[in-house]
Amino acid sequence: LPTLAIVGRPNVGKSTIFNRILGERISIVEDTPGVTRDRIYGNSEWLGKSFSVIDTGGIDLGDEPFMSQITQQAEIAIEEADVILFLTSIENGVTDADERVAQILYRADKPVVLAVNKVDNPERRQDIYDFYSLGFGEPLPLSGTHGIGLGDILDAIVAAFPDEVKDDDDDSIKFSFIGRPNVGKSSLVNAILGENRVIVSNIEGTTRDAIDTKFEADGETFTMIDTAGIRKRGKVYENTEKYAVMRALRAIDRSDVVLVVLNAEEGIREQDKKVAGYAHEAGRGIIIVVNKWDTLDKDNHTMSDFENIVRAEFQYLDYAPIVFVSALTKQRLKNLPQMIIQVAENQTRRIQSSVLNDVLMDAIAVTPTPTVNGKRLRVYYMTQVAVKPPTFVVFVNDPDLLHFSYERFLINQLRRTFDFEGTPVHLIARHRK
Ligand code: GDP
Repeated sequence: LPTLAIVGRPNVGKSTIFNRILGERISIVEDTPGVTRDRIYGNSEWLGKSFSVIDTGGIDLGDEPFMSQITQQAEIAIEEADVILFLTSIENGVTDADERVAQILYRADKPVVLAVNKVDNPERRQDIYDFYSLGFGEPLPLSGTHGIGLGDILDAIVAAFPDEVKDDDDDSIKFSFIGRPNVGKSSLVNAILGENRVIVSNIEGTTRDAIDTKFEADGETFTMIDTAGIRKRGKVYENTEKYAVMRALRAIDRSDVVLVVLNAEEGIREQDKKVAGYAHEAGRGIIIVVNKWDTLDKDNHTMSDFENIVRAEFQYLDYAPIVFVSALTKQRLKNLPQMIIQVAENQTRRIQSSVLNDVLMDAIAVTPTPTVNGKRLRVYYMTQVAVKPPTFVVFVNDPDLLHFSYERFLINQLRRTFDFEGTPVHLIARHRK
């Protein structure tokens, strides 16, 4: 997706505008821990064009001095974005900090849309002409609190997006390694590339998102999206957690299958759960990769013990296969391509309605539908409406009667009958007309 980055000094209203642009589109999955708070990245749509949005102001750069923070946020915007929304505010006129941002943005070869926020009062409209001095053409007025002017700004932004992002139009299987620092993502990337025939590798710096490498294995073509490599370039902001999270989210967005990497040596940490939560929420295929398996002294129980811990800690990922590997000794790395192929296939699996309804009727026969407040749930018909992830609509007499446990039961019946290992399965209840 093309990417918009919002940049500007503190207090001009970046996060308000960010939230307005995302609108209702922020999806919240209740049972995933810590995913939706402090959001600085999301997807939106305007005039039928989808795009990603980054609020660079939300990237917490710790104790860095004020001007340095502004500089770094602008650099992030340049690095990540196709179009930059440079936000200023009518309140204080053009400030030194605005000029600083402008200086950084001049250096970039990216379209910049300049907006002046907090023009809540029409009488102040005259003052926006001062902002021509920043050198980005016509300043567009905006009132974040009243929501006025945003449409024109989004028009300008969408018009400035590149015509086509050629990123995703091949049919290779796209995957990425996701995980907190030091779990061994870079090592896994290198080990995999060492074992397989590389077709094309983008040189670092030519892609903004990540380093993509195409390779062949088991008769398939893969694109590996490597976010870890970029982080290693070592700019200050690249070590901040939110930046790392945003990178991970962007990689997840582009992946068919996400390999969530854990570190066997250190066990499971809070941050691992967050990372896994993102992948789950995005509906991608997931494989749990326990790396550094070479570091443990093992007996007959070690693997099943570890597996039990992973299952207990990541209950919502009960569909994801687990593999124990070592980037160092290359143990079981050869299995990964085949597992990725299988999960990608499961993600796009389509089930005929007739077959689906046989399963549904059998399920109801085994476990009758529940009665809630004296009213019985009736289930009439099921059909698949989407893949990636497989999504089913079940037509019922009253969607409120389909409680979590029965929904879960139906999904489990589907999983038992068809191979959906590694992919979330979504079930939507609709009222039959
Ligand atoms: P990243 O931050 O997730 O990309 O992690 P790195 O790939 O940089 O690895 C972090 C550290 O763990 C490095 O010192 C690696 O050499 C080490 N490491 C990575 N994979 C393995 C493994 O399978 N076994 C062992 N023993 N060490 C590993």
